[in-house]
Amino acid sequence: MEDIKMVDLKAQYAKLKPELDAAFSAVMESMEFINGPQVSNFARSLEDYLQVQHAIPCANGTDALQIALMALQLPAGAEVIVPSFNYVSGAEVVALLGLKPVFADVLADTFTIDPASVKKIITPATAAIIPVHLFGQGAPMQEIMEIAHEHNLFVIEDNAQSLGAVYVRPDEHEVRLGTIGHIGTTSFFPSKPLGGMGDGGAVFTNDNKLAEIIRKIANHGQSEKYKFSTVGVNSRLDTLQAAMLDVKIKYVDEYNEARQEIARFYDNAFADTPAIQAPHRFKQSSHVYHQYTITVAPAVRDSLKSHLRDNHIPSMVYYPEPLHLQEAYTYLGYKSGDFPVSEVLSQSVLSLPMHSELKEDQLTYICQNILDFMNNNG
Ligand SMILES: *Cc1c(COP(=O)(O)O)cnc(C)c1O
Repeated sequence: MEDIKMVDLKAQYAKLKPELDAAFSAVMESMEFINGPQVSNFARSLEDYLQVQHAIPCANGTDALQIALMALQLPAGAEVIVPSFNYVSGAEVVALLGLKPVFADVLADTFTIDPASVKKIITPATAAIIPVHLFGQGAPMQEIMEIAHEHNLFVIEDNAQSLGAVYVRPDEHEVRLGTIGHIGTTSFFPSKPLGGMGDGGAVFTNDNKLAEIIRKIANHGQSEKYKFSTVGVNSRLDTLQAAMLDVKIKYVDEYNEARQEIARFYDNAFADTPAIQAPHRFKQSSHVYHQYTITVAPAVRDSLKSHLRDNHIPSMVYYPEPLHLQEAYTYLGYKSGDFPVSEVLSQSVLSLPMHSELKEDQLTYICQNILDFMNNNG
């Protein structure tokens, strides 16, 4: 059996090597490393893929969130709601821009932002919500958009982890996640559903006015050469990354489907073991399994992880500490117990190896080890 990896970028590269190497060489020959034609080609590919009016590439997924927020031109101190059980980017950019991160709890089954928790924390200063499509499936966008509409709030979808997942609207119409709110963002960090060979990100919107300001902000706030009409940032997607991503975007659906098949294998293996909670499927969205995250009793989570490691099976805890309890955000005054679901999840989640190159013998071995441990310790 081959070594088991959490994510297998090498095997992915091996499959696409001729195409990726040719795209790489083309950039090297042109020497147009900044804003080469590959950047706008990739932006068009992304627009086609997402069926969105505007896709604006930028340097990484955190910048994408920052640029999206800057484009909204919120007043200083405005409150922006972010889930506590999440990667740090959303809260970080809110704080950096002199706005106030306000945390919400998440749903116990899907781990995405809880609309009931959001409703409780809205104040006259609330200006925006950043739902996160966590681990590969959608946040409850229908409810979030209704809340936003009622309170006149902006919605920025953080779609770093679920690119390609489809959302079913109440009228049964299907759209890609990231195209429902006012602005959507994503990351092309190498392990994400569409990963580059380095950092990258993008901002999407169907709003022409927002698109114009987003483009400007990502490029130093330039309205024309050496004319700066707003404070901006330098956040570009390198031509080399765009060239790689324009090859890989053709395979996103294939990779997503391969991971769905692996998820089915795991689901079946764990179906008769109540001590293991397989990922819950949110019915309004497909799941592209950026992570396959199980939950087990907090008392056994860390020992299960050690047991797997002893048997050469990698696993990861995303996320070990909710954001409201992180040192950086103590100034906001939260305490333990404020968001019970996020707090329990951080002690009970475990993400298993998940990538398109996992083989059946590896999956059988992983599941056997988990089941053996849980049958003896669960
Ligand atoms: C990865 C990630 C980001 C940040 O992306 P970078 O490209 O690493 O800056 C933001 N939000 C979520 C939910 C992520 O998973």
